[in-house]
Amino acid sequence: MSSYYSASANKPQSFQALAGDQNADICVIGAGYTGISSALHLAERGYKVIVIEAETVGFGASGRNGGHVGIGQRQDQQYLEDKFGHEIASTLWYMGLEAVDTVKELIQKHRIKCDLKHGNVHFAHRAKYTHELEEEVAFLHDHYGFDQMEYVPKERLSEVINSDAYHGAVVDRASKHLHPLNFLLGMVEAATKAGVVIYENSRVISYGDAPNGRQVAVKTTQGQVTANEMILACNGYIEKLEPKINGYIMPINNFVLATEPLSDELAAQIAPLDTSMSDSRFVINYWKLSGDNRLIFGGGENYRRGFPSDIKGFVRKYMLQVYPQLADTNIDYGWGGTLAITLNRLPHFGRVQDNIWYMQGYSGHGVPTATFAGKLIAEAISGKLERFDLMANLPTTKFPGGTLLRWPGMVTGMLYYALRDRI
Ligand SMILES: Cc1cc2nc3c(=O)[nH]c(=O)nc-3n(C[C@H](O)[C@H](O)[C@H](O)COP(=O)(O)OP(=O)(O)OC[C@H]3O[C@@H](n4cnc5c(N)ncnc54)[C@H](O)[C@@H]3O)c2cc1C
Repeated sequence: MSSYYSASANKPQSFQALAGDQNADICVIGAGYTGISSALHLAERGYKVIVIEAETVGFGASGRNGGHVGIGQRQDQQYLEDKFGHEIASTLWYMGLEAVDTVKELIQKHRIKCDLKHGNVHFAHRAKYTHELEEEVAFLHDHYGFDQMEYVPKERLSEVINSDAYHGAVVDRASKHLHPLNFLLGMVEAATKAGVVIYENSRVISYGDAPNGRQVAVKTTQGQVTANEMILACNGYIEKLEPKINGYIMPINNFVLATEPLSDELAAQIAPLDTSMSDSRFVINYWKLSGDNRLIFGGGENYRRGFPSDIKGFVRKYMLQVYPQLADTNIDYGWGGTLAITLNRLPHFGRVQDNIWYMQGYSGHGVPTATFAGKLIAEAISGKLERFDLMANLPTTKFPGGTLLRWPGMVTGMLYYALRDRI
């Protein structure tokens, strides 16, 4: 299963497997946005960092996602205000904006070539959801002075899309979109230049207190890293590595296709503003044009091990509901990836013990949030804990039934809501 992203990746560096005994200030497990951004931000503060990756850099969701860089948190701002009050909600709002700025600044600072483009349009797939969109625009304007969003009613939708599938939309000029794997590879290059050492094809099988009682010893089959601090950055791929945090996330498989390159005329019809786009379905459809005018369309998910055998066909049916005019367009690539959701769709940050940190559960909003998590952990390990702790103190709930029983109940629930998209 090859993705468009791996086929169009800027030349990736390759890294040796971990062998023997190594030492570091900080050992990071996982080489996606969380792990690499943490490593880069910590190395820039002078720490010696080792990253251990089970497969290759970008193997996880960071090399496979839709590339949407959305503002705010995964929950809308009114929900956050109602749940946590204005002070925490507003901090979360401004951190959400800073997360998008962090992505932009990393791209500028390290001259990362990743097809960065601007804006997102979010569509209501039912007339009843248009009010929510209008309310959100008004709420952000009135309470946050945010003027980067505009509600577009049905009669003006042809300005933003050539499709009859929707009833209204919000144009958001602050969000961005990019080539997700190339963004990661650019951060990897910056991290190695800053002194970060990365090992690939090295699955961490266990970790625990080092014999000196102060450090942590992180083990793969062929090597060991002894470090002052360890960061778990495995998200939806963590499996059973850390039982203490497993029950708070549920891994979900989501699927994407890339068409052949579209003519300039068709591309302008499909995405008149060249923004990313998404809709209000529970199983969200999300799409955008790539740097070479392909439609990158994400739609459909499953809640079990394994991907559908025909991913292109699986996603194509969702694409044709939005764009029937693409019925004769070839699909060049289809692929899937695994993300982690939390029950309340807010990220799950914290510590297993004083020197073992984790960040996970970005619930489909990880391009900005996981990148930003790297900035927050670097602040925290350097002694400025406030912002990391604010995230860590957000209330989180285990999935009902915990690690063992979360599947049957949750899968039934997810399938129920997915079914409601269709009726
Ligand atoms: C199909 C899809 C589309 C998405 N679209 C979007 C989008 O448009 N916008 C958005 O904001 N978010 C999106 N997301 C979510 C986003 O991609 C993730 O939230 C983000 O990439 C998480 O980054 P991460 O570094 O935490 O995890 P990952 O990128 O998944 O990296 C985790 C890494 O940990 C490694 N690992 C696991 N266990 C071990 C071990 N024992 N030893 C060593 N290494 C280990 C894995 O091999 C993996 O490389 C999407 C996700 C998917 C799957």
